[in-house]
Parts: sequence; structure tokens; C-alpha cells
Amino acid sequence: MKKIKLATVWLAGCSGCHMSFLDLDEWLFKLGTFVDIVYSPVACDGKIYPPDVDICLVEGAVANEDNLALILQVRKNTKFLISFGDCAVTANVTGMRNSLGSADPILKRSYFELVDVNPQIPLEENILPKLLDRVSPVHEIVPVELYLPGCPPDAERIRATIEPLLKDKKPLMAGRKMIKFG
Ligand code: SF4
Repeated sequence: MKKIKLATVWLAGCSGCHMSFLDLDEWLFKLGTFVDIVYSPVACDGKIYPPDVDICLVEGAVANEDNLALILQVRKNTKFLISFGDCAVTANVTGMRNSLGSADPILKRSYFELVDVNPQIPLEENILPKLLDRVSPVHEIVPVELYLPGCPPDAERIRATIEPLLKDKKPLMAGRKMIKFG
């Protein structure tokens, strides 16, 4: 049996959605008989998103230039992209700074107003990726095939989403158990 290539990606999020993925516990062993995890912060340390990925769960919103470059690469190399968790679906907590209008107020607050010694914004290359002025949910940047809401989505909901896809069926994203936010 040819295994499905599965990836999980962590953009601007707290990693809680990935923690929930790990809550799949022993079902992860069963999942491992169907899929090869080819890219994921919880399973491998590859730095380059590989080609021909079948399914990818994307946690987090697009908040900085690194997120932007990665999601474009992910879209290019993925057949079925799942917007995974409320930050990916709506920008959620990470999007709270959007009401400030740009990245500047948050940078000033973090690196000047709340700093006692040597206040400065770390602008040198390869220290921090540049923040985008607006935090975007994933679908505002690239098309997605499926929305999996929740903050985080619980393991049962993650399993009920992934399991049909392993059999080439689309999950039924309906009802409180599957599409509740928060
Ligand atoms: S949706 Fe919730 S749990 Fe997931 S990354 Fe965002 S804040 Fe964290």
C-alpha cells in the first residue's frame, strides 16, 4: 500500500493545535500505518517543505515574512491543505494586533516601553522575521481545501477530520462537535 504523505506546519500560533494533534495518543500508531509524516515540528527536523505532499495541517495565522514564504511553498507543494485551528481559520489571538493598524505599535511596546535595558528593535537579518502589518488567516493568502476550527480542535475532532481523508473521503464538517470555534 502506498503511504499518504502527511505534513503539519506551524505558522503564527501557540503550538496548542499541535499539542492537540499529539493528544491523538495511541491512534498516532494507527495513523502511522497509513501515512509518512514528511514535515512537522513534532516529528522531523527537515527545514525544507518537500514536494508532492498529499495532506497538510497548517496551524497558525500568517503574521511575518517567514510565515508568508512558508505558506506559499506549502500551497505549491500540497494537494489538500487544512486550515488547522482558529488562528489559521480566523487569525484569532494572533490577529488581535490588527486593530492597531500596523506592526509598529506592537514592536514599540515590546522592545521599547516594556524594556529596562538597551531598548532596540532587533532588525538585523536572520534574527527575527519581519512582522507583517496585518495578520491574515491562511485562506486570505492561499486557497484551502478544508477548515478545521477550534482553539485548539480537540483530538477527537482532528481524528474525525483526518480518518475519512485516509480513505479518500471528505469529512463531514457539520454540527457543534466538528465546527465549533474556541
Ligand atoms: S487556535 Fe488556539 S491553540 Fe491553536 S495556535 Fe491558535 S491560540 Fe493556539
